[in-house]
Amino acid sequence: MTATASYYSEEHHLFRDACRRFVAEEIAPHHARWEKEGKVDREAWLKAGEAGMLLTNIPVEYGGGGADFLTSAIFIEEMMGHVFTGPGFRLHSDIVAPYILNNASEDLKRHWLPKMASGEAIGALAMTEPGAGSDVQAIRTTAIRDGNHWVINGQKTFITNGQLADIIVVACKTDPKAGAKGVSLILVEADREGFKRGRNLEKIGLKAQDTSELFFDNVRVPATNIIGEEGRGFAYMMNELPRERLLVAISAVAVMESALKWTVDYTRDRKAFGKSLADFQNTRFKLAEVKTEVTVARVFLDDCIAKFLKGEFDVATAAMAKWWLTELQGRVVDTCLQLHGGYGYMWEYPIARAYADSRIQRIYAGTTEIMKEIVARSL
Ligand SMILES: Cc1cc2nc3c(=O)[nH]c(=O)nc-3n(C[C@H](O)[C@H](O)[C@H](O)COP(=O)(O)OP(=O)(O)OC[C@H]3O[C@@H](n4cnc5c(N)ncnc54)[C@H](O)[C@@H]3O)c2cc1C
Repeated sequence: MTATASYYSEEHHLFRDACRRFVAEEIAPHHARWEKEGKVDREAWLKAGEAGMLLTNIPVEYGGGGADFLTSAIFIEEMMGHVFTGPGFRLHSDIVAPYILNNASEDLKRHWLPKMASGEAIGALAMTEPGAGSDVQAIRTTAIRDGNHWVINGQKTFITNGQLADIIVVACKTDPKAGAKGVSLILVEADREGFKRGRNLEKIGLKAQDTSELFFDNVRVPATNIIGEEGRGFAYMMNELPRERLLVAISAVAVMESALKWTVDYTRDRKAFGKSLADFQNTRFKLAEVKTEVTVARVFLDDCIAKFLKGEFDVATAAMAKWWLTELQGRVVDTCLQLHGGYGYMWEYPIARAYADSRIQRIYAGTTEIMKEIVARSL
């Protein structure tokens, strides 16, 4: 079950077919191994680039696919429908690349976007620090101007693609006394002297996803590596966050739709007390509830996507979609796991992975509590 909204054209359906083939051939055979190894092969990134799966939404002149936002939505649905959470494609193509496209200099765009589209350069976004997550203004990493360079000092944590990244968009204080107005975004190449990666962090889910600490010890980068204007970093982040939250919401609905399907199939096949689990009234009622909730979720999500396509998706609606759909994801996946019994707790069943991997959805890209603050502020 995937989106059938009217804004999908014939080309979108063909692109979905291509995504399905790519996922079946290049992701499915390797994902379990990547989970054990704690990261994805670089080869998979190159294959994704070759197949036209990266930066689909970035103009052709910068090496991207030149397609609309729906191609990003489709690829995310096809990956998340199988809970293939290892490759940080979403962050790379739909978060880091737009930061560069919408805000960076022409030189940075022309240099990095084609490499990101081919999978040759992997991107990360580093905002969070050990002492500052929700409260981004409290970051302490500094970038101090020294002639034609920025000198960066500080530490980041929980950074997706942290072990593999070739370029990192780093949120820094260029004016430590100025609060939000003192935050700038600076592109740091991973081969700069003084840059070090920390541990690949051990997580309760997203086992194939590399999530790391990053350290900056007098890292010198050219002054031209700044993304956009000095002191505008916070404003750029606020502009990009609704899109990021919509992408999280899209993946939430994709996981829920799959969880429902797996659970209907499982409860039909599995027998107890001489009948199928699906014949017990409790199972039927739980599945009826899940089906209803997932249907309501899909209608809301489709409306959010339609608004986004029309340029009418506001910050508060993005926050509503992010918190409500990810909280629902948690409840739906939990219900579906319960209906699998002990098998639902076994890693080889996708519902187990969905359970572990869904938990983070309520935390990253802005926690549920921060989303409610945003919604409340809009009232
Ligand atoms: C797997 C993973 C991947 C991630 N990827 C990235 C990445 O690529 N780049 C990046 O920069 N970051 C990333 N993050 C970080 C993530 O965005 C933060 O963890 C998140 O924003 C929360 O920050 P925190 O962990 O510091 O929690 P805190 O901000 O300390 O929050 C702790 C609790 O307090 C609550 N709280 C905080 N402030 C308020 C408030 N004002 N009102 C009410 N409640 C509040 C929170 O909602 C939460 O429940 C990732 C995290 C994980 C776990």
